[in-house]
Amino acid sequence: MATFKELLANVGHVLPTIRRNADYVPDKIYDLKVMPYVGTKSILFSGFIHSAENNKRYSCQMAFYGIDDPENSFPSASENVCRCRCSCMFFRFVFGWANKIAGALQGAAFPPYVRKTPLPPAKGARPQWNPADLPGLCKHLIVFGNELMMSGRIKP
Ligand SMILES: [Zn+2]
Repeated sequence: MATFKELLANVGHVLPTIRRNADYVPDKIYDLKVMPYVGTKSILFSGFIHSAENNKRYSCQMAFYGIDDPENSFPSASENVCRCRCSCMFFRFVFGWANKIAGALQGAAFPPYVRKTPLPPAKGARPQWNPADLPGLCKHLIVFGNELMMSGRIKP
């Protein structure tokens, strides 16, 4: 379990450049939907973030849990449990498993990751992106969450 603020803080440990890259994504959520669920005391936000890098749109979902009156209140980025998901490959491969085991993945688990290159220090090895399996956010989810905060849909 982690809050949005905790997931955001982890990003700096996994790959500091993700936060910088997030600055290049135009700050706009397309087709934003806000869905309160009284039964599970949660609010689910979904929408699309446009990537200027490859001109694609990625589907983002971010849910907050532990909200007593989800139809009439806002989640907190620092208090409510946050689960998220992005359709980009980076999120799937770097955070898919880490978020799953941390209880921070929205929706079903991704198929298991099969590594195609050897682990360091073998020849031709590439470093692991997230060896400590810290749950976190891709740049689309960073922008998505920041936009929700800027527009007042999530309290800081
Ligand atoms: Zn993404």
